[in-house]
Amino acid sequence: MRKLVFFDTTLRDGEQAPGFSMKTEEKIRLALQLEKLGVDVIEAGFPISSPGDFEAVQKVSEVITESSVCGLSRAARKDIEAAWEALKGARKPRIHTFLATSDIHMKYKLQKSREEVLSMAVDAVKLAVNLCPDVEFSAEDATRSDPEFLYKVIEEVIKAGASTVNLPDTVGYATPEDMYSFISGVMNNVPNIDKAVISTHNHNDLGLGVANALAAIRAGASQIECTINGIGERAGNAALEEIVMAVNVRKDRFPDVECSINTKELYRTSRMLTNITGVEVQPNKAVVGKNAFAHEAGIHQDGVLKERTTYEIMTAESVGFPSNALVLGKHSGRNAFTTRLKELGYSLSPEGLEKAFAEFKDLADKKKEIYDEDLEAIVLGRAAEHKKYYELEYVGFSSGTGSVPTVTMKLRRQDGSVITDASIGDGPVHAAFRTVERICGAEGRLKSYRINAVTPGKDAQGEVTLTAEFDGAGFNVGGKGYSTDVLVASVEAYLDALNGYLAKKENLK
Ligand SMILES: [Zn+2]
Repeated sequence: MRKLVFFDTTLRDGEQAPGFSMKTEEKIRLALQLEKLGVDVIEAGFPISSPGDFEAVQKVSEVITESSVCGLSRAARKDIEAAWEALKGARKPRIHTFLATSDIHMKYKLQKSREEVLSMAVDAVKLAVNLCPDVEFSAEDATRSDPEFLYKVIEEVIKAGASTVNLPDTVGYATPEDMYSFISGVMNNVPNIDKAVISTHNHNDLGLGVANALAAIRAGASQIECTINGIGERAGNAALEEIVMAVNVRKDRFPDVECSINTKELYRTSRMLTNITGVEVQPNKAVVGKNAFAHEAGIHQDGVLKERTTYEIMTAESVGFPSNALVLGKHSGRNAFTTRLKELGYSLSPEGLEKAFAEFKDLADKKKEIYDEDLEAIVLGRAAEHKKYYELEYVGFSSGTGSVPTVTMKLRRQDGSVITDASIGDGPVHAAFRTVERICGAEGRLKSYRINAVTPGKDAQGEVTLTAEFDGAGFNVGGKGYSTDVLVASVEAYLDALNGYLAKKENLK
């Protein structure tokens, strides 16, 4: 049997797509869940690209014990050294260095000859191998590279010590037939190919990411680079959950491979990512979409009741779909609350737990049925444990047709002092954000703003996800807020973003 190595790049390729940025503590939480899922390699970031990425790779390296932790670097000394600096605390570190090998990239982007690219690749791998025992080399735009030149590069980087060679379809151009013959060509024409693991990395521009990954596996690739929910640059990357289930459900097509992914954690991992980013998957998304296991048509329902396999090729339980979404109510005790949070993958400090339980009781007074999503909203929202420079003490809104929207607000500072102010605006949200800015002395520009209902029902909590730039800092920060009142949720989200900005500013000092 051939072991498939699942290389998850949600925190790197996924996170660099617009609208998917994550804070360090969110990356740590997701990394721990990826480890629980059984991912073999976690690509945690691109350390030289920003102080935030560096910190995230470093922190993820500290907490992960089973999976390898990987950092990306270009084929340049300072990149590779920064990657190693961030990774060196990891139990199983991996440096991933990349360089383009297609004529179009070499000519226009790198402005280098084939000879120069070959020696840069070898030098980069040699440098990385000196620092770290596990080194991966990626030939960027491999599928559009001249095959003979690519075979030479692969042979030489393996000689230099690369134990994994990744061959990405960077622009998502290949079809499954192309991919099969491309990987077969590599397997048959590189003399020392048995000395390294061949890896595949597929973008989804033509909707073929997963199909191409499967074709690559059949042709001999043993490492699959992919992301949760298929997030990533442009149209995204191949979705981990779809590849894993295809290999599992269609064992007849993949008889010689095995993987160590715990499929029962797939749904939970997908949910955690949507919770963090605020970007939902479409209901008809394979494996983890809301409708993936819903049988609406009468004929289908009848069939499934008589014999499940008439219309179902896999079970909802096998991917960890929750069987009872409704969990807690007004009379649930602290024990049930704590147990459920643990099952959802959250472990809080005693003070954090105290605060979260108080929020839960408060919510249970307003809302009869409490769902898993509500508990997550509490933990990620008001009871969140990151540093808060300002907290909402009180907010009052006055708005409606024919009146000037007015907001009064009290914010509590870290030292306990409370500041009161008021403002008018074009609408209540505008007035509220202006009041926050007046009190905190910051000037914000809202880049995106979204309201979702956390659960079904008219009494549902609203979830506001936004991004903003403060004081012309040159970077965006994200914020989230939850409340049964969407105006209050908006203020919480804006404060969350502002707190994130202030924390970042302090770190950069
Ligand atoms: Zn990519």
